[in-house]
Amino acid sequence: MIIIMLGAQGTGKGTVAGYISDKTGIKQLSTGDVFRKNINEKTPLGIEADKYISKGNLVPDDITVPMVVGYLDSDMAKDGIILDGFPRTMAQAEKLDEILTQRGKKVDLVINLVTPREEIIDRILTRRVCSNQTCKATYNTKLHPPKVEGICDKCGSPLVQRDDDKSSEAINQRLETYEKKTAPLIDFYKEKGVLRTEEVSSRINRLGKEVAEDIVKDIL
Ligand code: ADP
Ligand code: ZN
Repeated sequence: MIIIMLGAQGTGKGTVAGYISDKTGIKQLSTGDVFRKNINEKTPLGIEADKYISKGNLVPDDITVPMVVGYLDSDMAKDGIILDGFPRTMAQAEKLDEILTQRGKKVDLVINLVTPREEIIDRILTRRVCSNQTCKATYNTKLHPPKVEGICDKCGSPLVQRDDDKSSEAINQRLETYEKKTAPLIDFYKEKGVLRTEEVSSRINRLGKEVAEDIVKDIL
């Protein structure tokens, strides 16, 4: 099964994807995590990607698309995949369709998470991630705090704040890019009949975990 996570930054895509992955065994691919890992390890891909990411811009398609295709063709995707952070532009979505069609596959489900803007900003500023690159668990100091402050529940490593989560300029830049480049994908997938929109917000008292539980019930 091929699942795509859509939704602006801070809507809980990573949390929902992680939960679905744990319950179904379908692996999760976060393009942002792959880029960050490469940046930390100073690989050629990381050095190139960092030029864009540090400014809050998207990494160009000629870098991003081949990277994703590599994972799609790997053993990791043998039972399907949950794509978190890809596609993010119409060009990427069209490219993905083409690649999947060539392989006799298609996008089965697109989960579109929606959260009010004020809540989004607040959530990004209070987001913390595990510094252990093979764990990468995410927390929120208000909504989903770790048992011990600053320490990952899963692996005991220190929690850190992502560089691009620290400044409100970078956050606003990313949200603007989302509206301009990624939001059009909502209609694209709606027309294909695979879109499932879910609100995640404290306004209606609905957390990502609950959304994920409902989705897992429907797909298992
Ligand atoms: P966020 O959604 O909070 O921006 P991500 O972890 O998904 O964070 O991605 C971090 C950065 O990596 C993005 O701001 C963007 O620069 C880059 N990136 C991730 N996925 C893509 C993609 N599909 N296309 C282009 N750039 C991407
Ligand atoms: Zn951890």
